[in-house]
Amino acid sequence: MERGRVIKSTGSWYTVERENGELIECRVRGKFRQRNIKSTNPVAVGDWVRFYGETNEYVISDIDERKNYIVRKSVNLSKQSHIIASNLDQAVLVATLKNPVTFPTFIDRFCVAAEAYHISVVIVFNKIDLFDEEEREMVEAFRSVYTDLGYVTAVCSAETGEGLDEFKSILKDKVSLLSGHSGVGKSTLINAIDKNIKIKTGAISEAHYTGQHTTTFAEMHKLDFGGYIVDTPGIRGFGLVDIEKEEMAGYFPEMRELLPDCKFYNCVHISEPGCAVKEGIKTGKVAETRYKSYLNMYQNSDEEHYR
Ligand code: GDP
Ligand code: ZN
Repeated sequence: MERGRVIKSTGSWYTVERENGELIECRVRGKFRQRNIKSTNPVAVGDWVRFYGETNEYVISDIDERKNYIVRKSVNLSKQSHIIASNLDQAVLVATLKNPVTFPTFIDRFCVAAEAYHISVVIVFNKIDLFDEEEREMVEAFRSVYTDLGYVTAVCSAETGEGLDEFKSILKDKVSLLSGHSGVGKSTLINAIDKNIKIKTGAISEAHYTGQHTTTFAEMHKLDFGGYIVDTPGIRGFGLVDIEKEEMAGYFPEMRELLPDCKFYNCVHISEPGCAVKEGIKTGKVAETRYKSYLNMYQNSDEEHYR
């Protein structure tokens, strides 16, 4: 049985890239064994699948174990999840300080979601051509917070080309999910490193994605220098699904390692005495901005349940 990777899904048809690079259209037929979770879609973009058949009649018969996947909870009552994409090597957040500003809380939500999904984090600060000296220093300060956590960071300008070689080397030969606020420069950035790729991230209004007939889809674009960009039109960031607020600190790597030192095993690191996380702020192990994000996420978790 041949093996290939799903690079696009249109509901009932899946575009699969064969190992020789050829693209074919496949269907899923009959009862299909679901992997990991019960989802509304049996096969997702990024899945390695087994297929058989011939021209116009290809059928997907099995999926290889997913190393990770991101989901979106469906709005309807069945509480099923929709797998947006799978087998990601890294989640790339494009951020910037200007036009529009990306707040640290947003970056930290992204990091927490990536931790929960077991996906490596990359944070790219774009539009540095617009930054003055002071803003460049601010970006460097942010970067050091995140590189200390083991996350990859970069700065660049899609406009001037500064930093683009480094950005390319980060993406090379990897499957990268691309996220970031609308207007931060995702399309311009990808277009600047591979002019054949037109991404759609953020191009579809949120209105299309409400109600139970949501047709969430993703697409993988092959980079001409190696690797893939996973584009998720209409999906803002990627959701924090099923994280209990009491467990939130465990998804902040610098807090996670301090948790055994909190006096109370059920410490939520807000007003308890003998809290190692709060002590960590004083000793510089936990950045203030990160703790602020933690508080924000903890306090808002009931309302939004981290979408
Ligand atoms: P997306 O919504 O994230 O895909 O953002 P776009 O790629 O559409 O970019 C939004 C706007 O920012 C466009 O007008 C781009 O020309 C501009 N832009 C993108 N990157 C840069 C950059 O590095 N510097 C400057 N000055 N403008 C940029
Ligand atoms: Zn604590």
